[in-house]
Amino acid sequence: MEIYYNKILLKEKIAEWKAEGKKIGFVPTMGFLHQGHKKLIDESNKYNDVTVVSIFVNPAQFNNESDFINYPKNEESDLEICRLSEVDAVYMPDKEDIYDNGKIPDLQMKIPHLTKSLCATARPGHFEGVLLVISVLFHIVEPTNAYFGKKDYQQYLLIKEFVKYTNFNLVVNVVNTVRDEDGLALSSRNARLTYEQRTFAKNIPIAFQKVQEYLKTGGRNIQAVKRIFITTAITSDKLKLDYLEILDAKTLSSVPEVRGVVLIACAIFFGEVRLIDNIIVRV
Ligand code: AMP
Repeated sequence: MEIYYNKILLKEKIAEWKAEGKKIGFVPTMGFLHQGHKKLIDESNKYNDVTVVSIFVNPAQFNNESDFINYPKNEESDLEICRLSEVDAVYMPDKEDIYDNGKIPDLQMKIPHLTKSLCATARPGHFEGVLLVISVLFHIVEPTNAYFGKKDYQQYLLIKEFVKYTNFNLVVNVVNTVRDEDGLALSSRNARLTYEQRTFAKNIPIAFQKVQEYLKTGGRNIQAVKRIFITTAITSDKLKLDYLEILDAKTLSSVPEVRGVVLIACAIFFGEVRLIDNIIVRV
């Protein structure tokens, strides 16, 4: 496994692989890797000749300074996970390698029809930062396939649309959410939870479970779904619901009731730590 800190050297390697006709799989991450990231890597390895993982905590996508500063890091363990997962190249750039002079460029890309809800409204500027870094990374890595997690479902939809509009010659793939034994979606941010917060967090998958049970009995009412979710997941005044939204899973537009393919997505603050999760139901 090669480690690249510099895009010029990585691009040379990519050019070599391209000349050999190799399919390049790409997994962009912010590090502090876990089994969710590993699943993306495994998918990439399955369908490509080589896999590139990037590890870059992108300042442009943080709308909260403290969240950026406290984002967990562990370079050694990340490299070990990549090695064990048979990654071919890890790209670990600094800010200067991604953005000219290390300055976040004054360039904004927006996809308004997919950013009127969820994390787009809860974290202003977040997805502009995501699209910025993704376009830089796609230009460097020139992947055949890129892999994203369903946990960040809105991000996946946006990137898919972005690639369609901008003619990047690659396929955007989505991978199911990997969960802990108790059902909590794995996230690098879980490491920041206190013992008590982690105990509260296990109620998120239980709340989704209860919603699914309600839907199985034929229930379709949005308010009922919200009530069931909130009473199960928000069990303490130490938790703060950032959003709970029920939307058409393809368009992210609002729906009058839970019918068709529907996204139920939440963001919850556990103190400073904000976790997101979602399920997609077909009813
Ligand atoms: P991050 O490092 O959090 O920016 O995530 C990098 C990629 O891994 C994104 O495409 C995420 O959606 C994906 N990812 C994060 N957590 C999970 C998970 N629990 N299961 C599957 N994919 C995940």
